[in-house]
Amino acid sequence: MKFFILMSLAMLFSLTAVTKSRSDIPEQFKWNLNDLYPSVQVFKQKRAEFSKKIDKLAKFHGKLGNSPKELKECLDLFFDLNRELDRLTTYVSLKADQDLGNSENQKLKNETFNVARKFAEASSFIQPEIISIGEKKINEFIKKDKGLQLYKLMLSRVLKKKKHILSEKEEALLAKTSMISDTAYQTFAILSFTDMPFPVVELNGEKVRLNQAAYTKWRSNPDIKIRNIVFPKFFGTYKEFENTFGTLLYSQVKKDWFYASAEKYNSSLEAALDPNEVPVKVYTQLVKEINDNLPSLYRYLKLRKKMLGLKELTYADLYTPLVKSVDVKYDYKDAQKIILNALKPLGKEYAKYLNRAFAERWIDVYPNDGKKGGAYSSGNAYDVHPYILLNYNGDYESLSTLAHELGHSMHSMFSNTYQPYVYSDYTIFVAEVASTFNENLLNHYLLTHAKDRDMKLFLLGHLLENIRQTIFRQAMFAEFELEIHKRVERGEALTGADLSKLYLKIVRKYYGHDKGICKVDDLYGVEWAYIPHFYYNFYVYQYATSLIASTHLAQKVIHGNQKDVDEYLGFIKSGCSDTPINILRKAGADLETDVPFKTTMKVFNDTMDEIEKLLKEKN
Ligand SMILES: [Zn+2]
Repeated sequence: MKFFILMSLAMLFSLTAVTKSRSDIPEQFKWNLNDLYPSVQVFKQKRAEFSKKIDKLAKFHGKLGNSPKELKECLDLFFDLNRELDRLTTYVSLKADQDLGNSENQKLKNETFNVARKFAEASSFIQPEIISIGEKKINEFIKKDKGLQLYKLMLSRVLKKKKHILSEKEEALLAKTSMISDTAYQTFAILSFTDMPFPVVELNGEKVRLNQAAYTKWRSNPDIKIRNIVFPKFFGTYKEFENTFGTLLYSQVKKDWFYASAEKYNSSLEAALDPNEVPVKVYTQLVKEINDNLPSLYRYLKLRKKMLGLKELTYADLYTPLVKSVDVKYDYKDAQKIILNALKPLGKEYAKYLNRAFAERWIDVYPNDGKKGGAYSSGNAYDVHPYILLNYNGDYESLSTLAHELGHSMHSMFSNTYQPYVYSDYTIFVAEVASTFNENLLNHYLLTHAKDRDMKLFLLGHLLENIRQTIFRQAMFAEFELEIHKRVERGEALTGADLSKLYLKIVRKYYGHDKGICKVDDLYGVEWAYIPHFYYNFYVYQYATSLIASTHLAQKVIHGNQKDVDEYLGFIKSGCSDTPINILRKAGADLETDVPFKTTMKVFNDTMDEIEKLLKEKN
């Protein structure tokens, strides 16, 4: 599914209060789902036809090894069905998200996902059958039947899984464990999001229940007195449940290792990266490079301390904006113009699709009662076009989110245009490159056109914070995640206290606690308990690698020539037609080297130079 997906913590906990009915919003600001199906009636008819077609798969069961012809016919049917299913599920998902309280639409969605399950069951024989036919015979088939050429890469990807597949009996037993394998995460989620007795505190004369959403809102408050209530109170609550959270995370890490070792992987990390075709080196190199570049982070923290006018910088001072947020509003029409200008370097075809997105109502712009919060792009409907859900409110964050989601949509549009369906779906590993690339170009454009110093400082500060939170902080998580898995793989046990001790050690290293740069109290060692991503099996490192790759590619486009632009377009055209690392390498960002990382650190340091220059001018 191409619903992206890399959620920030802030989004995860965001609450939106809206009081505008959907019918009050003019049509031009609502997405046009008629491009998918002209009416619900037509949709239902297509779904019924689809459901019938599923039965045709059965005749291939046990026959794929008979002849190239049978293999090809089965794959053709399978991908045709998949393609139609993508369109069906896109329709019902988008319709449901317009108004989560609309039970008709929810029902339509549930029914359709039942049909999707039926399809998954009916086609579940295909992969094991391909694997049992074996590489030699499959290659002979491909030679004999030119029509199978299209599926060559897809077939080789399936065959590669052979190494990690067990006997039929073992696989069946392993499949059954899925009934119990998400207990740790489910318990974590219930405890963290429902049962935690978060305290009620008084902030600015307002009584606030200090849950995750409130913490995210108040942690950046400019008043240090407020932050010094928020931080200890919030993490103090986690500290009380340190033992429970520790048991849960320990269970999760054991679970990861159970599946990794059962499937004959050398480590949990290898098992997590292998399905995405990402080498372990990309992960370990990220952690190493970040460690080598901590002095750049220390420089930023010192600058932050100076700009905030603090005697001592502590862990509670990290989220406060460096400069007062400039009061700037972008109405939706202006936002479109700015984005078209900012992305102009990408050429005519890119601009053509952007214009279509705005003119042909690919975007659901404004919030309304019951509408899903946050923002996403859905590029699943291969034969139609991408869609974007926004909750646009005119601030800088909204403008930047629009650029971000358009990055995903353009990635989908180009890949869907230039790749056959079977290779159109780009992987999670590269997904956030195209989106954060657009944020980079937007920031660059706004900076070049900023009229006053405050606006410049605001934009530069934004860039620095983005790099701190997306690269340094996520790499820090990645380092912690790797270490706890290694310990379990060595047979060591982990308690809540062990986890806090380790986390504190890492966080103090990153923030220069022992060097007197940022003071991290013992209490914040428990921060790991608050992070849901540690249950996502080596996920967070991709935030960092994506921004590193996109920063490098954006610098190439900003300072380079037509070749750099073409290489970038080559990347968004490529879907999953090669490994994600090869695709990025061809675009000029080789994540197996330190080059993209060096570019990013240069941008980070240049930005600080720029800020220091502006601050001097001010004095
Ligand atoms: Zn995204």
